[in-house]
Amino acid sequence: MNTALIVGGGINGLCTARALTLRGWQVTVVEREPLPNPLSASWDHHRLIRSHYAGQPHYAGRMAQAYAAWDRLFTDIDARPYVARGVFALSRNAGDWTDIARAELASANMQHQIIPPEDLPKTLPMVESEGVRYALVTQDGGALLSDRIVEGLLRWLTARGVTLIPDCPVTQVDADTAMIQTARGSMQADRLIVAAGVGLPALNPWFAQNTHARRATVVYADPPAAYCAAWQNAPAWVDMGGQDDLWGIPPVAGLPLKLGYGLHTQPGDPETQRDVTPDDTATILNAYRGRLRDLDQYTPIKTVANFYLMAPSQDFVLRGQGRTLWLSADSGHGFKFGALTGEDAADAITGDWRIVATRLSGNPP
Ligand SMILES: Cc1cc2nc3c(=O)[nH]c(=O)nc-3n(C[C@H](O)[C@H](O)[C@H](O)COP(=O)(O)OP(=O)(O)OC[C@H]3O[C@@H](n4cnc5c(N)ncnc54)[C@H](O)[C@@H]3O)c2cc1C
Repeated sequence: MNTALIVGGGINGLCTARALTLRGWQVTVVEREPLPNPLSASWDHHRLIRSHYAGQPHYAGRMAQAYAAWDRLFTDIDARPYVARGVFALSRNAGDWTDIARAELASANMQHQIIPPEDLPKTLPMVESEGVRYALVTQDGGALLSDRIVEGLLRWLTARGVTLIPDCPVTQVDADTAMIQTARGSMQADRLIVAAGVGLPALNPWFAQNTHARRATVVYADPPAAYCAAWQNAPAWVDMGGQDDLWGIPPVAGLPLKLGYGLHTQPGDPETQRDVTPDDTATILNAYRGRLRDLDQYTPIKTVANFYLMAPSQDFVLRGQGRTLWLSADSGHGFKFGALTGEDAADAITGDWRIVATRLSGNPP
């Protein structure tokens, strides 16, 4: 039986473990932290899945495959931790992010709907509609309940005989021999996949030179009573118009509303900057002023800081070296592709990694 070692128990490592297990490989996952790992980029109540992309048509073009891959995974784990509420984006200026995403959805013949400003008070009453040109809505997309997906995957992998080794930092990788050094000694397999997220730069000079960790903060909040009913049926959002990069997830599955603010995301150090400050919360809430009605009546519940690995052009990266694959399908938008990326990584192990690298990012490696 072929053997594989996987470094990293985030969504990409675990989905790769699943895909290889389904192909008859004997798999071991080595994780620096506990499993599940609450510090991983993949751990939160939810992650957004959406077909809206602007300037990245390659990723939009893979969304149908991404949804199909999640369906296969949900069948395996015998659960469907996904709330398909749909997704909206607002356009405030000609040529803004939403306008570009609209053109890309149209040219790819992907399902979408335009809501004119006069209909917004009825369909999205919690949104400040002044200055909005239109809302771009897709019926597909919504919230992947990421922590429940990770837990379901861990249960499935355990039941299928995958060896999971938590609390075991990998200190060194010999890519040619697929051997790793860990606190518990060395380990080796036929093939090695390193899907270590923000841990990649410490293990590989290419990632140290070409990628960086970014600190992203989100605020969980309860909406005012007057808007609760509207929020209970609302889609997620990926852009509130203009240059603000405001995204978020409505209350789903008994969870509070989640408010994200892309402009508050900055390069950061995952080892020292996990604490949140009152300033994080205030900055994010203030960014929604003039975007959400009656903003001062929202009650912040908790603020969370986490980190992801940014690669050039916000791309996904797959690099083959000897008997090792280095994988970062992240750049802040990787969870939605996790199930598909696992299948891709398994293809790369058994086939030509360069073809798969091109499939992942749209660019040759
Ligand atoms: C706040 C925030 C919001 C986001 N929102 C979205 C969203 O809405 N939609 C979306 O699609 N994506 C989103 N993303 C991005 C998405 O979460 C990531 O792309 C994805 O989770 C990356 O998964 P991963 O498995 O590559 O990395 P991770 O989940 O970080 O897993 C890597 C694992 O490797 C382990 N590791 C590191 N170094 C070592 C070592 N030396 N030895 C052993 N183990 C090691 C780590 O401990 C970690 O558990 C968001 C990210 C953040 C931070």
